[in-house]
Amino acid sequence: MTAEVGVVEAHQVRKSFSGVEILKGVDLTIGKGDVVCLIGPSGSGKSTFLRCINHLEKIDGGALYVDGEMVGYRREGDRLYELKEAEIALKRRQIGMVFQRFNLFGHMTALENVMEAPVTVKKIPRAQAKMEAKALLDRVGLSHRYHAYPSSLSGGQQQRVAIARALAMKPTLMLFDEPTSALDPELVGEVLDVMRVLAREGMTMVIVTHEMSFARDVASKVAFMDNGAIVESGAPQAMFSAPSHPRTRDFLTRIL
Ligand code: ADP
Ligand code: MG
Repeated sequence: MTAEVGVVEAHQVRKSFSGVEILKGVDLTIGKGDVVCLIGPSGSGKSTFLRCINHLEKIDGGALYVDGEMVGYRREGDRLYELKEAEIALKRRQIGMVFQRFNLFGHMTALENVMEAPVTVKKIPRAQAKMEAKALLDRVGLSHRYHAYPSSLSGGQQQRVAIARALAMKPTLMLFDEPTSALDPELVGEVLDVMRVLAREGMTMVIVTHEMSFARDVASKVAFMDNGAIVESGAPQAMFSAPSHPRTRDFLTRIL
């Protein structure tokens, strides 16, 4: 077995729900520090693919590696064993995920939201977790809102807390599933700015987004997904100015 080089390596990944094939052979390589913007029409399988990377769905075919390890399996010699739920939970901690809806704990302050997983899952001492959580909230521009409850924060602030909360587990990979789609337009920029800084700092990221100007600026690679497969991928300049596949052209004409 050769070592896989990418942070994520997808080879012909397939996934069906109730006999309907949703992912029809997804191929994608994501290297360390890559920022991949995954674009494509609604229903093309983007969220499903992210969920597979994050062990929230089991693939039915092909192979998927994260950090050189096959998702869902453990290798011993030349045999593969399916991971148990507890082992999967361990793996999932290495990946940060930010959804369209912020999913913060409503009964906890911003600070408590960010501290929660490090304290309960990683057993980090509270004082240390608090210090790190404050530093993360500072990084996302919320040093003045440590003690605010989600209901008193704007959507953009809540999403920035959600990003800080994901970062608190020191993930090797961050997945964003339409992180700005539920936001009022005037709040989109502050969330994209935080993601832009993360990208600049070298975080490996996969971002499902319809924000094409963000993708053009920030992505190291844009991948266009349609009907359960990645139809085309490449540098943003090339993808946006000269897409080679007619379906990419058609999609970009409609969205830009
Ligand atoms: P996208 O994120 O690109 O909009 P999704 O991955 O959410 O696409 O969905 C792709 C297709 O898979 C859709 O037709 C959706 O209805 C279907 N799908 C996603 N999750 C499930 C599920 N758990 N059960 C059945 N169908 C699903
Ligand atoms: Mg989706």
